[in-house]
Amino acid sequence: MEAKLHELKRRLIEANDLSTAAAVLYWDQSTYMPSGGAAARGRQMATLERLAHEKFTDPAIGRLLDALEPYAASLPYDADDAALLRVTRRLYEREVRVPADFTALLAHHTAESYQVWAEARPANDFARVQPYLEKTLDLSRQLADFFPGYEHIADPLIDFSDYGMKASTVRQIFGELREQLVPIVQAITAQEPLDDACLHQHYPEAQQLGFGLEVIKRFGYDFERGRQDKTHHPYEIRLASGDVRITTRVKEDFLAEGLFSTLHESGHAMYEQGVSPAYDALPLGRGASSGVHESQSRLWENLVGRSYGFWEHFYPQLQMVFQAQLKDVSLDTFYRAINKVERSLIRTDADEVTYNLHVMLRFDFELALLEGRMEIRDLPDAWRERFRADFGIVPPDDRDGVLQDVHWFGGTIGGAFQGYTLGNILSAQFYAAALAAQPEIPDQIRHGEFGTLHGWLRENIYQHGRKFTASELIERVTGGPLSIEPYIHYLRAKYGELYRL
Ligand code: ZN
Repeated sequence: MEAKLHELKRRLIEANDLSTAAAVLYWDQSTYMPSGGAAARGRQMATLERLAHEKFTDPAIGRLLDALEPYAASLPYDADDAALLRVTRRLYEREVRVPADFTALLAHHTAESYQVWAEARPANDFARVQPYLEKTLDLSRQLADFFPGYEHIADPLIDFSDYGMKASTVRQIFGELREQLVPIVQAITAQEPLDDACLHQHYPEAQQLGFGLEVIKRFGYDFERGRQDKTHHPYEIRLASGDVRITTRVKEDFLAEGLFSTLHESGHAMYEQGVSPAYDALPLGRGASSGVHESQSRLWENLVGRSYGFWEHFYPQLQMVFQAQLKDVSLDTFYRAINKVERSLIRTDADEVTYNLHVMLRFDFELALLEGRMEIRDLPDAWRERFRADFGIVPPDDRDGVLQDVHWFGGTIGGAFQGYTLGNILSAQFYAAALAAQPEIPDQIRHGEFGTLHGWLRENIYQHGRKFTASELIERVTGGPLSIEPYIHYLRAKYGELYRL
């Protein structure tokens, strides 16, 4: 058994190394690569993805999994080897259904499509990406159809990123949340808006980046095992346990953009840095699901980074960095500015209250596109229409409408967005569990200390990687299933005070 397990791990690590090499190429493409490299890069990534896929779906892996079945059955459920075999089996069964040629085709297409989007967005040119998006939709449907027997065509795609979730479960959670959210949004936006003029001044990039780095070092993001670079659309990327990178973007005329995206991505990265090193390069060696991942980024970005206590400690430091801009701005004014709720155009800049409406729009559109109720060419108009209905405003152009998010241009249509709102919900649920276990956390945050919170997250969430499914993890950490209550409670308490609701 030991020899077979060793052989299985050797093969899994080999497959992982190939897809990690593709990930390095993606990181390079989105940070430093000259645009002339696009065509070759698409091919290079496709080659590596194909090889990784071939390695991972080698029938030898299936035979090893079969042979190790009795060993897995002899172990307790939460033993590392049992989890490794269980999760590998699940991923293997899924991957073998997708032909290697298709994987390569999809990788090649999305790399090309990403490059076209990166140029079409600043040019506000939807027509340029439309044929690429049509092909993406076609490929997304084909991908789903490798998993016949689904209830909804989006189900297999949702399952890839949020295992165990279906379109119908997500719809139900979103429906309940929407019911609670919309009245809060209406009550807030009926009032005089908070003043966030202090954020819209000139903030030089270098100082913004410097301040953000100081904060995330204090959070516990380990720069010996990480780094930060600039990109179009911020993300975190794991290359190894010892190399978890983040990217950011900065607007010199809007302080919140770069700052909060840095805090956000550091939350993703600390999660990956905290996964047990024993799982490195194996299927357990990454976060549990996209919803759980997003809960960790939103926790640091919002529940910590937009809290009053956090800024009691950090605001004087921020004022030192930006004396000219902030010396006459009080902590209260700043706190209200960073928590201003408004009907805005851009998901990634949206406040905590309206954010989920942006996600629901995209999720509903994914379902409509996959079902064939909506055509790609109708997207820009449909976007404006829905925006008017949900937000009472209309995007002036596609750049800040349908072209704003990279997801459909660098991946599939379907399964790309639900994780964001699941993450918001879970961020509050996990944070409530952390505070119940360690009530001293808020006081420590007021003093710029994050060790207890970081340690609790590492112990209860990070270290497990993908050992447990999202629903198992939620149950273990909070003692119950996913619930929107802590999130609604958090929003009502915080924004009730800010807006005297
Ligand atoms: Zn995120």
